[in-house]
Amino acid sequence: MTIKSREEIEGLRLYTPGKPIEKVKKEYGINSVIKLASNENPLGPSPKAVNAIKNYLNCVSLYPDSNSTELKQSLAKAFNVNSNQILPANGSDELTDLLAKAFIEPDDEVIMADITMTRYYTTTLMMSGKPVIVPLKDWTNNLDEMLSSITNKTKMICLCNPNNPTGTIFNNDKFEHFLSNVPKDILVVCDESYREFVEDPSYPINSTRFLSKYNNLVIIRTFTKIYGLAGLRIGYGISSPNIIEILNKIRCPFNVNLLAQTAATAAIDDTEFVKKCYNLNIEGKSYLYKQFDILNLEYQKTESNHIWVKSIIDSTITSTELQKKGVIIRPFGGNWFRVSIGTMEQNEKFIFELKNLYKK
Ligand SMILES: *Cc1c(COP(=O)(O)O)cnc(C)c1O
Repeated sequence: MTIKSREEIEGLRLYTPGKPIEKVKKEYGINSVIKLASNENPLGPSPKAVNAIKNYLNCVSLYPDSNSTELKQSLAKAFNVNSNQILPANGSDELTDLLAKAFIEPDDEVIMADITMTRYYTTTLMMSGKPVIVPLKDWTNNLDEMLSSITNKTKMICLCNPNNPTGTIFNNDKFEHFLSNVPKDILVVCDESYREFVEDPSYPINSTRFLSKYNNLVIIRTFTKIYGLAGLRIGYGISSPNIIEILNKIRCPFNVNLLAQTAATAAIDDTEFVKKCYNLNIEGKSYLYKQFDILNLEYQKTESNHIWVKSIIDSTITSTELQKKGVIIRPFGGNWFRVSIGTMEQNEKFIFELKNLYKK
């Protein structure tokens, strides 16, 4: 007899991560593989972060600071909020999880886009909540439609800005209008994992300023993307002290490991690296736009480090064929796929193989 899990867990599907480089090398017997599937930083980690953790490798026999005190203080200073408004976590993914555990009761409704981070959907189901799916409009979170979808059962609304996988944003005015129309007993969770890549000046880059007026807002950010610390697992939430306290009660006592705390604290000051990544991303996107135009491919202009592209054949086939040539991208079913912007050399390799594939 097998032991049964809670019923809501039986129906959940496993998360499919981007295929690891080593696996593709083995599968197709090739030596050179590039991964443009998981929006990882093509320039690696922040050098300041790497330097900082070198001094702490011998300290991993000790527990980390349970309160991530220093990291919290640095973040508070950087974003002009109080330390008690910040919760560092084991990747921003952990925050999505904690929010679901803390707030979603059976049959509560959680509003989210149809094409967005899948974790919002999974964590809602995990807590027996009901995902209420609002289709994207022009590939962007449709805030007006989300407002009209609010019922007396709505508990949470999950926004992703820029949206993964489509790379689109909603602007500051739209966000403010949205916040002012959401009842205060509904949580608004805004995932800003890619905020540092945004070019558009109308983006709410200082969204923390809304916190003084809207204590139902939770902003989620991460060191995974522009700081290049995906492997260390470090993200953070910014919200009202009340919400942060609730999440603190249920998180694991040592949720952020020692090296992650050290690296992130150092990375905050690495403005030079952030700038370098930002500039490389802009160079990459303008090159890729040009190439997609030449190939006559439909795509969505991005404010992030990845582009949403319409393949001329099934995206899974495109993905498999590119893998055979050593390029890993992320198919999304139907014809659309997502490709991360890499180094110029990686972008050129991807385009070279894509052109070869579509010529056939
Ligand atoms: C990458 C990503 C995350 C996960 O970030 P971690 O900090 O690595 O957990 C969360 N949300 C979005 C939209 C992402 O693209």
